[in-house]
Amino acid sequence: MATVNRRKFLQMAGAQAGALAVTRTRSLRAAPSGAERAQAAGDTADVAVIGAGAFGGWTALYLREMGLSVALIDAYGPGNARAASGGETRQIRAGYGEREIYTRWVIEAFNRWNARQAEWGGQPLFYRTGQLILAREWTRSQRATKTVLDRYGVENEVVEHDDLVRRYPQFNHTGMAFGFSVPSTGVLMAKKGCLAVAQAFERKGGRFMLAKAAPGRRAGNTLQDLVLSNGQTISAGTFVFACGPWLPKVLPEPMRDRLITPRRVTFWYGVPAADARFTYPNCPSWSVRGVYGFPSIEGRGFKVATSFDNVPFDPDTDERVVTPEEIRRARAFVSEAFPALADQPVLESRVCQYETSVDAHFIVDRHPDMGNVWIVGGGSGHGYKHGIMLGDYVARRVTGRETDPELDTTFRLKAETY
Ligand SMILES: Cc1cc2nc3c(=O)[nH]c(=O)nc-3n(C[C@H](O)[C@H](O)[C@H](O)COP(=O)(O)OP(=O)(O)OC[C@H]3O[C@@H](n4cnc5c(N)ncnc54)[C@H](O)[C@@H]3O)c2cc1C
Repeated sequence: MATVNRRKFLQMAGAQAGALAVTRTRSLRAAPSGAERAQAAGDTADVAVIGAGAFGGWTALYLREMGLSVALIDAYGPGNARAASGGETRQIRAGYGEREIYTRWVIEAFNRWNARQAEWGGQPLFYRTGQLILAREWTRSQRATKTVLDRYGVENEVVEHDDLVRRYPQFNHTGMAFGFSVPSTGVLMAKKGCLAVAQAFERKGGRFMLAKAAPGRRAGNTLQDLVLSNGQTISAGTFVFACGPWLPKVLPEPMRDRLITPRRVTFWYGVPAADARFTYPNCPSWSVRGVYGFPSIEGRGFKVATSFDNVPFDPDTDERVVTPEEIRRARAFVSEAFPALADQPVLESRVCQYETSVDAHFIVDRHPDMGNVWIVGGGSGHGYKHGIMLGDYVARRVTGRETDPELDTTFRLKAETY
């Protein structure tokens, strides 16, 4: 079996992971217990988690922290460049319109991200940038967001137009009636977070394997094992498929047409020399006319995340190169919304894919034909921030512990298809 030792893990994760982990060399992985040695020899685990993105990584860590033997398997590595969780940064916002359950989770997620950051030596995984939404008028969703945030005591502020102009001179406020500010929200370091979770999982005795997995033998409605890409097998009592955009490939039944994977394009623009207006902590994360972005963090540039068209994207084979038309449209937006950046060059660009469920809710449900197989996914463009909550929820659910029935219903695999 392709169990990844620490050296291989670092090689696979690349230089940045190495830089993170080198300082922790001595604390990695205490000597294995007898049970762990037996488990390693026998290619079995209590739970096998397939996919080490935000959903699978956190699930595996929480399961391991419950004391279970856990195998975490990923074809390309935790937070890899093809994965939805593999981007540089992801937003943690509290506003969810009427979808109050996600606001509840985010409030707890703030505490958990801060606690994990401290537990893992204080490396920055969460930047509290605040969020500013510029609006032409109140929408039903915006009103619902304000009502829910007020109910839960999440600080928020309506910033009137004249105040906007004074407080946020980097933005072009023409045509905007007001801004909606939520100071407690921010930006998570996505790829780094996945690596930190996988490393913590290994330190606590979990097994990470670099392999592509497929369902193997079945006995009645029970999956017996996985077949790995090198031909070996791993058996487990419970299997959690947290394969993000790959779910329809890995489990065509029932995931075909229950998830789409549209292309998404992100740009990082330069900020003018010696100009701190577009840099954390002087600029909030923002949302303007359906486009959102972040200030320059760790010197990467000013991020602009677009959603031009819903072109289907293959996470394995499609090339991640932006088109001239995407560059042109993004430039037009930036020139209008942030005039001081109009002449700044694109420093980096990235192409990734969403994995969107039919109702944009997450999916956590048993496979309809295999009682010990769980399907976990449907991040729908907003899943990263919730991984820290969802992993806990999934770990509880698959081990038969008590969970919130409202969440169980919300996350069930819906009958509708695309
Ligand atoms: C451009 C973009 C912007 C986003 N912005 C935000 C944001 O601001 N805030 C936010 O909260 N969320 C955001 N999201 C959504 C969020 O990133 C995703 O919902 C979340 O990362 C999904 O995590 P996941 O673990 O389900 O999937 P993934 O991260 O894709 O992980 C799936 C893993 O499964 C592995 N895998 C697949 N098949 C196999 C197999 N057969 N065997 C072994 N391994 C396999 C893959 O290698 C991969 O590592 C954004 C997404 C994108 C693409």
